[in-house]
Amino acid sequence: MEKYFLKNIDNPDSADVNEYMKVGGYKNLSKALGMQPKEILDEVKKSGLRGRGGAGFPSGMKWSFAVADPKLPKYLLCNADEGEPGTFKDRPILEKNPHLLIEGMAISGYTLGAEYGYVYLRGEYPKAKDILNGAIKQAVEKNFLGDNILGKGVKFHLAVYQGAGAYICGEETALIESIEGKKGQPRNKPPFPVNVGAWAMPTIVNNVETLSNLPLIVEIGGEAYSKIGSKDCPGPKLYCVSGHVEKPGVFELPMGTSLKDIIYKHAGGIKGGKKLKAVIPGGISTPVLPADSIDCAMDFVSMPKAGSMLGSGAVIVMDESVCMVKVTYRALKFFEHESCGKCVPCREGTDWLRKILERIENGQGREGDIELLSDVAGIMYGKTFCPLGDGAAGVVIGMLKHFRNEFEEHIKNAKCIFSC
Ligand code: SF4
Repeated sequence: MEKYFLKNIDNPDSADVNEYMKVGGYKNLSKALGMQPKEILDEVKKSGLRGRGGAGFPSGMKWSFAVADPKLPKYLLCNADEGEPGTFKDRPILEKNPHLLIEGMAISGYTLGAEYGYVYLRGEYPKAKDILNGAIKQAVEKNFLGDNILGKGVKFHLAVYQGAGAYICGEETALIESIEGKKGQPRNKPPFPVNVGAWAMPTIVNNVETLSNLPLIVEIGGEAYSKIGSKDCPGPKLYCVSGHVEKPGVFELPMGTSLKDIIYKHAGGIKGGKKLKAVIPGGISTPVLPADSIDCAMDFVSMPKAGSMLGSGAVIVMDESVCMVKVTYRALKFFEHESCGKCVPCREGTDWLRKILERIENGQGREGDIELLSDVAGIMYGKTFCPLGDGAAGVVIGMLKHFRNEFEEHIKNAKCIFSC
């Protein structure tokens, strides 16, 4: 399949509006403005597009809730808070193809009846901030954004809001709190943001990759889009691969490409000819898979059947030299640090899990520690206010399921068995 998100990115000036227009950029915005918003919404529903941020919720359904709400103004927020360890799939769009996102947001804004949009950008992406701001300025100059887009009487303004480096602000309601200038902590749901979101108005929050699909759906139509990739989760997909592979990077492939093919065909296989030990398939919050479980389609439906989740499609590959106790400990250090502290199971649970893992990794593990880890993770799972707590507990549950022997060996030998 011809590249869509990554088209033209080898061009050093790919972020320039004129270069984007040379490869057909903004033609689909013009086409969309000649359609009724309802027609575009119907195409999005037909396309089967599902959110690419991790949850995989059908975008057309989510949008229809906001469209049905008569309150005005409506807001469109792009979640570019790509802060999960292992995840960097949106970065090429933000830095190399920002006009694709801007075009997608302008089409989405028109469809939803939203006249104001924000890109909530992770604090650690300063380069993307400058590139996006430059691209927005160019789009305003060309009349692709503003009060009267392409002379069609359609208004859509776009601005970048940079976060301060908190992982929890990738959760949509925490993102909204942050954009309103408050402490980034999740809100109670319901009410859902589609009805009561930013400044208490209907708000759609979608991921960078999700919104960047809109020009393609307008161009080829929902029906044709639905034939790309998996039947239940169609469309092109960006997978980012890191860790012990020969060619780490971001790969654009049809949704549902097998995890095995992503690692061996596209990322060049395991570095240095070593053996594969394990894969975290969708960012650090998705459960680990052992080497013999990677023959599975990377989409929202197949991955739960394989024992994990697609998440953001961020594949972390680990070879035979990796200590799984250390990986679990490092993951929990991250979750403990990023826990916003709002709910007890996550605030206390991540701290407990990190402490127990730290002593096991340092050769001070005690008899009963594995059971304690299992108990604490089990108590947390499903009882936290937002998915961060589930992600932290899920890492421990998955590691104990597949690599319990390594935890036992660490405790028995009173040291890390990988000398790390
Ligand atoms: Fe905050 Fe963690 Fe509770 Fe989410 S699960 S609200 S991050 S304390």
